[in-house]
Amino acid sequence: MTGAVETPLPSTADGSRSRDLLAQVVVRCMECGRRDDGTASRTSCANCGGLLDVVVPLDRQVTPDDLGKDLPETARHSGVWRYWPLLPHLPGDAIVSRWEGNTALYRDDRLARYAGLTDGSLQLKHEGQNPTGSFKDRGMTVGVSHAKAIGARIVACASTGNTSASLASYAAAAGMASLVLVPATKIATGKLAQTVAYGATVVQIDGDFDRALALLRELTAAYDVYLVNSVNPFRLEGQKTIIFEMLEQRGWEAPDWITLPGGNLGNTAAFGKAIAELHQVGLIDRMPRLAVIQAEGAAPFAAYHASGFEEYEPVEADTVATAIKIGDPASTPRARRSIEVTNGWVTTVSDAEILDAKAAIDRAGIGCEPASAASLAGLRRLTREGVVRPDESAVALLTGNILKDPDAVTAYHFDDIDGEPRPGANRPIRVAAELSALERVLSDALHG
Ligand SMILES: *Cc1c(COP(=O)(O)O)cnc(C)c1O
Ligand SMILES: [Zn+2]
Repeated sequence: MTGAVETPLPSTADGSRSRDLLAQVVVRCMECGRRDDGTASRTSCANCGGLLDVVVPLDRQVTPDDLGKDLPETARHSGVWRYWPLLPHLPGDAIVSRWEGNTALYRDDRLARYAGLTDGSLQLKHEGQNPTGSFKDRGMTVGVSHAKAIGARIVACASTGNTSASLASYAAAAGMASLVLVPATKIATGKLAQTVAYGATVVQIDGDFDRALALLRELTAAYDVYLVNSVNPFRLEGQKTIIFEMLEQRGWEAPDWITLPGGNLGNTAAFGKAIAELHQVGLIDRMPRLAVIQAEGAAPFAAYHASGFEEYEPVEADTVATAIKIGDPASTPRARRSIEVTNGWVTTVSDAEILDAKAAIDRAGIGCEPASAASLAGLRRLTREGVVRPDESAVALLTGNILKDPDAVTAYHFDDIDGEPRPGANRPIRVAAELSALERVLSDALHG
């Protein structure tokens, strides 16, 4: 673990106002309690190397009427910044927003039955509807705005693809340079395409995500480069708003469960913090339980949970769900806190269960990328195991857009397994360019 890198602040008149605001932001180490202000880029405690939290002053009640008001002009359309009373107050002229958030909360009873719940009990929060197609944009607006506020010249991340796509877009919006490290193989086509198109400097390394992040942390410790991976506490502040917005859409009525895929565990960390804060300011009177779902081949947090949080062991990760192909999640201690605070649960699903759940979500006309489907696959498993009761309510988080990983879709529908198409495979039908051939297809479509 490494210490803070001090970034010089801009010295303009505006800069000194920025400095005043940033000096009031509090960042605290979750291990030793050391406090710093928000004037520098910090991703671990200078004393003990522990993970950091932004401390938002929550000394008064917040009501629904307090939201979306008195926002800086730059933040007016954002589904993140409307929760201003529950976020760190960055200088308005530094805010970089691309109208993120404002995503749909769908009800779907076919998928409720798939999950083993009664009709009306399941909703899906679709974070694939963010500007770059994943929830990463919610954290990125806060991370990149903080980077801009402190005068950073270059922002960087290690990524399985979605963080890099989001960073590249927000850095472009801010007029800043961006540097991303991705694994040389197994990055989904859509994600790599976005990152390149938005103009980031893309470095493919011969190693996995965990190696890329470790390498980048060495670089950012030694050079004046702003790190926006989810070890950055400002990013997690933005991701809290998934919970805020979902609960606002439900009239501040908490579901019994929230299920989400667990990779680097940034969302898990952010969600526990969000729920605790909403409870503290009186916006909810009952806490939902978090259920974190990991892929079987990338499940160090599930094993840690199963040991009663006694034994933690990183793994070499392997799964088709590349966004959660992470063997040593950086936010593990914060995620543990989230599970403890919300009386939550952690489980695993196989790649086959993930792909099956994804096909069900896709067929419902909703669609998502593979990692997202872990939340539905995991819910199905938890109702079967009796952890979740059929009459309980749940919100499943869909983290990314179906178009992120088109190869996963075509492989599922077009490739044989054991010489046979998968049950439910939907293949285009090639016919002669004649009306009679088309009539046969129409008849099959209506009756078959
Ligand atoms: C980043 C990501 C995840 C994993 O989220 P963590 O916060 O790292 O646990 C899951 N799904 C998608 C689509 C992602 O982009
Ligand atoms: Zn510390």
